[in-house]
Amino acid sequence: MSLIDKIHEAGVVGAGGAGFPTDKKLNCKVEYFIINGLECEPLLQSDKYIMRNKSDEIVKAAEEIGKLVEASNIVIGLKKEYEKEIEALKKSIDKLNSNITLYLSDVFYPAGDEQILVYEVTGRTIPPAGIPLNVGAVVSNVSTVFNIYEAMEDKPVMYKYVTVIGEVGTPSIIKVPIGTPVLECIESCGGAKLDDYAVIMGGPMMGKRVLKKDLESRFITKTDGAIIVLSSEHYLFNREKITIEHMKKQAKSACIQCHYCTDMCPRNLIGHPMHPHKIMRNVAFGVEDEEALKETLICCECGVCEMYACPMGLSPKRINVYFKNELRKKGIKWVNDKKRFEASLVRDYRKVPTKRLIRRLHLNDYIGQVLKEGEEIIPSKVEIPLKQNIGAPAEAVVSLGDKVFKGQKIGEIKEGNMGANIHASIDGVVSDIKDGRIVIKLMKPEVIV
Ligand code: SF4
Ligand code: SF4
Repeated sequence: MSLIDKIHEAGVVGAGGAGFPTDKKLNCKVEYFIINGLECEPLLQSDKYIMRNKSDEIVKAAEEIGKLVEASNIVIGLKKEYEKEIEALKKSIDKLNSNITLYLSDVFYPAGDEQILVYEVTGRTIPPAGIPLNVGAVVSNVSTVFNIYEAMEDKPVMYKYVTVIGEVGTPSIIKVPIGTPVLECIESCGGAKLDDYAVIMGGPMMGKRVLKKDLESRFITKTDGAIIVLSSEHYLFNREKITIEHMKKQAKSACIQCHYCTDMCPRNLIGHPMHPHKIMRNVAFGVEDEEALKETLICCECGVCEMYACPMGLSPKRINVYFKNELRKKGIKWVNDKKRFEASLVRDYRKVPTKRLIRRLHLNDYIGQVLKEGEEIIPSKVEIPLKQNIGAPAEAVVSLGDKVFKGQKIGEIKEGNMGANIHASIDGVVSDIKDGRIVIKLMKPEVIV
């Protein structure tokens, strides 16, 4: 079986983002294959763990992927402060006689944004609304590359390494079968220290906010990498409570047109025509015409403008998101008016230092938390969504009452569709198939036979 077929069979999707099917992404020829180990969102540590502990696997898989896409440069991007990870990767590169190089980045946010990483490594700006392929590159996250290594060994995607941090008894990095209830992950890390808590799935800047009452129906997927437990009254949740109407009123009454949101915008700094202050001005004057608002379509929603830059505490990102969704509903797309985009000469001086960002996010208390490592969760049941990726959902290929083994295919993507196969992450019995999820109850393998 070819590497692409193995990746397809194993159901590998982008583990660090929206879950783009990896077999489709790597079906290309490029100059640069870049492995993203930046993990730039504050507090997250799962990718660091993988780079420290699975460096041989990452280097081996990266070599094979490099051959597949015929890349003349294979580069692993990580932060220059990651001393242990750099050492581990260097050792593996030497041991395996590999030509892979390391790109050691400054410690800033959002260094791990694909467009920013490609610019840092190649000096080329991906056009707005474009993809790395437009400038001869393809990027995969380190977790994805590790999953590709597993696929090379005929092991499908069955588990995730998840950082559980914040207001929990024992902050940890745990190995979790796909479909494990998020509440069980929190419990296995000593439980929440507060009664009234809420959770961010992912990083504090771009992760999904989930209230405690909604956690019952939340399960670990192939794209999850972190659970941040905080007080439900934490600054990050309170900011989310502001309505769009209130944000518009704030823009009218308080936007001083200082321009800082645009000056600090990482996409503007690599040369994209993204000017959040102009969007705010339009909103302030009630000029909500589509042409002026089209820029919102190229906002990556990194949040720098509102969580770091704006001195007035306004919400340009959320206003962008609102208008972006409105334009998308009307089928309006971004069209580039030129081919080349030049980065700002002052870009290097406007990188957002991660430590300062952490203070702005009121997350200081959690910087020094030492994470316990190595624990593997074995849940009593998993609920595995048939759609964990961009594209179509898989179709269940098991029925109620079927006995399944860890690694067995339980959902298949139809020929010709873009999507990913789904596999059992524990041994057990299919106890339900509902709401696009397959529920498996744990059972010992000897009982199943
Ligand atoms: S930084 Fe804030 S106050 Fe300044 S222009 Fe942007 S939204 Fe307005
Ligand atoms: S969220 Fe703000 S800073 Fe980030 S890309 Fe959009 S406009 Fe720029």
